[in-house]
Amino acid sequence: MTLPANVKTSPDYPVPEKMKAWVLGDPGELTLADKPVPVPAKAEVLVRIDAVAICATDLEIIHHGPPAQIHGGDPFNKNFTPGHEYMGTVVALGPGVDEYEIGERVTVEIHAGCGQCKRCRQGMYTSCHNYGKNYGDVDKGHRANGFTTDGGFAEYAVNNINTLVHVDDSMSDEEATLVVTAGTAMYGLTELGGLVAGESVVVTGPGPIGLMGAAVAKALGAQPVILTGTRDNRLEIGKQLGADHVINVRNEDVVEKVRELTGGKGVDYVVECAGAPNGVNEAAQMVNRGGKICLAAFPHNSPEVDVAYLVRNNIYLYGIRGEGKAATHRAEAFMRQKRFDSTLIHTHTFEMTDLEEALRYAKDRVEDAIKVVVKNKHAQAGKVAAE
Ligand SMILES: [Zn+2]
Ligand SMILES: [Zn+2]
Repeated sequence: MTLPANVKTSPDYPVPEKMKAWVLGDPGELTLADKPVPVPAKAEVLVRIDAVAICATDLEIIHHGPPAQIHGGDPFNKNFTPGHEYMGTVVALGPGVDEYEIGERVTVEIHAGCGQCKRCRQGMYTSCHNYGKNYGDVDKGHRANGFTTDGGFAEYAVNNINTLVHVDDSMSDEEATLVVTAGTAMYGLTELGGLVAGESVVVTGPGPIGLMGAAVAKALGAQPVILTGTRDNRLEIGKQLGADHVINVRNEDVVEKVRELTGGKGVDYVVECAGAPNGVNEAAQMVNRGGKICLAAFPHNSPEVDVAYLVRNNIYLYGIRGEGKAATHRAEAFMRQKRFDSTLIHTHTFEMTDLEEALRYAKDRVEDAIKVVVKNKHAQAGKVAAE
């Protein structure tokens, strides 16, 4: 492909003119289309996408729109490609980029932000004040893969260097797609003030973020780590990932059980990943006086919260969005050291061309699916060539 002279490529990784990319039409409608391969600008690289994990938020975007925002509105019929939990290989370097090499395996975090607002400058790029402003005369250059700019259900994507995380050779492509999930859990625990070894944690909801929350909390030295949920098979995986106790909320009174496990006081932190209707009130009952609650799920309703209870007990409430403050790098460090086995939550792999079937597995939890990954064929071909 003819690229600007200041964009570096290598004959080992030829970059084509066009690529296959899934494009969102009407709600729920995806088609595989041809798109031009994007060109990396300053501080950007071109990533050949090798594997993408499907997230509940992808399903939300594909069927309902938000939190994706394209040209200031919903993402439908705008030639938009969703998908945000991807990893791949660097195949072209934008002008001046020397932080990464061609051929390097990377996984990417979602939000680059705009890089110039107050929150981006503080490392809180997931709370960028210019979210979605990357078009027309309001162009602040905001980027969030698969949310405000094209994402990973394609063969290639450009990424800001600040969103890249080097992937160790010991990690499979599938495992590398989970770094951002573990990074979200890590960001939650960081925002609570940073867990100190020996502090106690409840994680509610054994979805991918909740399961990684239990794993990361344990890796940080939490004691005990208590995971709550409704599905025994997922709670069992939580135990393997580091939870000291699991509580099936269908069989036991969760608040009573947490208090019993903590000498009647409750835990220091609750990470709410269930988005349950009464989640905040229950979390308040599980945390001790002066404790902290992190809200990491998107509930569908607007539940009533007992604010007076929070005030009387000096309970802190934090909301987090995604994976800020370079938390993915800290998560990757734990994964590289094999401090927990994130592959336990990867259950299915499909080819990129079978994306619709992969989405169905994720949506309907077919065969107890947790994390479903789609892979591009070129990833496999590249591996054979290298061997
Ligand atoms: Zn996600
Ligand atoms: Zn910003």
